[in-house]
Amino acid sequence: LLAADGRVAPTIFTEMTALATATGALNLGQGFPDDPGPAQVLDAAGDAIAAGRNQYPPLPGIPGLRTAIAAHQKRFYGLDVDPDTEIQVTMGATEAMAATLLALVEPGQEVVTIDPFYDAYAAVIALAAGVQRPAPLTLDRDAAGRPTGFRLDLGALRQAVTDRTRAIIVNTPHNPTGTMLGRADLEQILAVAKEHGAYVITDEVYEHLTFAGPHVPMASLPGARGTVISISSAGKTFSVTGWKIGWITAAPELVTAIRTVKQFLTFAGGGPFQTGVAAGLGLGDEVFDQVRESLKERRDLLVSGLRSAGFDVVVPDAGYFTVADAAPLGFEDGAELCRQMPEQIGVAAVPVSAFTSPAGPNAARMGSLVRFAHCKSASSIHQAVERLQKLQ
Ligand code: PMP
Ligand code: GLN
Repeated sequence: LLAADGRVAPTIFTEMTALATATGALNLGQGFPDDPGPAQVLDAAGDAIAAGRNQYPPLPGIPGLRTAIAAHQKRFYGLDVDPDTEIQVTMGATEAMAATLLALVEPGQEVVTIDPFYDAYAAVIALAAGVQRPAPLTLDRDAAGRPTGFRLDLGALRQAVTDRTRAIIVNTPHNPTGTMLGRADLEQILAVAKEHGAYVITDEVYEHLTFAGPHVPMASLPGARGTVISISSAGKTFSVTGWKIGWITAAPELVTAIRTVKQFLTFAGGGPFQTGVAAGLGLGDEVFDQVRESLKERRDLLVSGLRSAGFDVVVPDAGYFTVADAAPLGFEDGAELCRQMPEQIGVAAVPVSAFTSPAGPNAARMGSLVRFAHCKSASSIHQAVERLQKLQ
């Protein structure tokens, strides 16, 4: 059984959300927002349901959504993408990643992941009978031992990539750390991949939730074409994580290969939600700005609250999550703390160790780090911070 070695097991989100539900704790563990999302997006999906557009959508995705994705790539990044041959709509970024890895990875081939990594990568690499190789992020600390930031270790990446590497999975902005990789890092990753004939699969689901300057898509680098497979999803941008509408953009031959696999995962799905997302991608800049600004305010609220509760905090540059070090409070084991908190103080969070490779160095180095979701309402964050004071 694949589950026997723990690579394909119940996710940390399932475990911690179950604990939050059982104890009535505030769920700052699982990354889903509690705002409703833009009304235009919700209304467009509602209208599509009412209009009876409830049967199987076409395998590549409805034409209106593929056109909207192409227009989005052009508007935000200046990229030209052919809606017919270079886009595949998927059931979230999760299915996009699964279809991509299952299409590309032969048994025994290696896939390099930046460590810590989103947990689904390890599971799907295992399903594809691939071998995962970690390229650890570095956690910088100041003279007093306080964490100051995460950084890609290019030397470690170079070591991890060999001629056995089939793909490098890049995730920027990054879950769980909120790190954004800059153009120079991305160029290096692309160069290493090309040197070894590997693909780059880039997960950019937090592309619009950036607080420290604009996101740089891997696909915008010179030479990306044919090597880079880009994945995104509407769940985070429009606060509709339950809709599971994602997409892949890549060169036609890659899209064809991934589409062939995707047929047998779900074929197609989420017809009316695809219409909702198409409407969302076409909304004015002010909507994207508002989503970003509102999330940034709540990030700031959680960062200052965690600090007041005695945590050391690495301020995230993007995304849904803030990583905090529980060591100053006397907790060296973040996983143990996360198992206790729901019952003891009514707050659920997720240990960063759940995102690290047990074989890699970050399992130990990041053992006292805990991930809190700041994509929650200001009142939930206030309440959680009040409860967290009890840890001191
Ligand atoms: N990749 C990353 C980095 C994520 O954080 C998430 C969800 N939190 C996903 C993929 C999954 O996206 P989706 O819900 O669209 O499947
Ligand atoms: N991606 C979300 C997170 O990182 C959760 C997704 C899930 O529940 N599987 O929290």
